[in-house]
Amino acid sequence: MKKLWKSLFVFFISAIILVPLTVCAAGLGKWQYPKKIRTYIPPNHKRTEMMKHAFQRWTRVTNQRIIFVYVSDKKNAQLEVEFVNVIPNADREIGLTQSRVTAGNHILRSKVSIAEKTSNMQSLSEDAVFTVMLHEIGHAIGLEHTKEPLSIMYPMEDDRQEIQKSDLKRLAEIYGW
Ligand SMILES: [Zn+2]
Repeated sequence: MKKLWKSLFVFFISAIILVPLTVCAAGLGKWQYPKKIRTYIPPNHKRTEMMKHAFQRWTRVTNQRIIFVYVSDKKNAQLEVEFVNVIPNADREIGLTQSRVTAGNHILRSKVSIAEKTSNMQSLSEDAVFTVMLHEIGHAIGLEHTKEPLSIMYPMEDDRQEIQKSDLKRLAEIYGW
């Protein structure tokens, strides 16, 4: 499966087509300049501030090795957030991350979608939404799923999940910290 994705990356990159290549999938690559990831969050949305807090959480726990620089024009963004009502067949029901990765394993662009409701139209608690935001940002900076239930990168949402030392260790391995 992983091999297949890799070859798809190469194919799409050489064709220069912006196509969602991963849906929370494996082998997510890494940012070449993680201290200035140009990030767009739709302004004046009821989730705007919460999303900023989720980005700030990742910056803090990585001791500022990953910094999101907010931009007001999404065309100028490398990491784009969108708020939608529902994501059909989404990962963790209300989140989705799609990244475009080069053959050299660098992330060129990533898009994080956060929905208000599950695909069967159920509302979620604030805690659940925040947990999913942290999870999707984890994908957007290169983390894959884990098998540890309390890790933020576990595929099934649980409000007790947090960014764990093991998540940071894997991030350190990806970026060579
Ligand atoms: Zn996921």
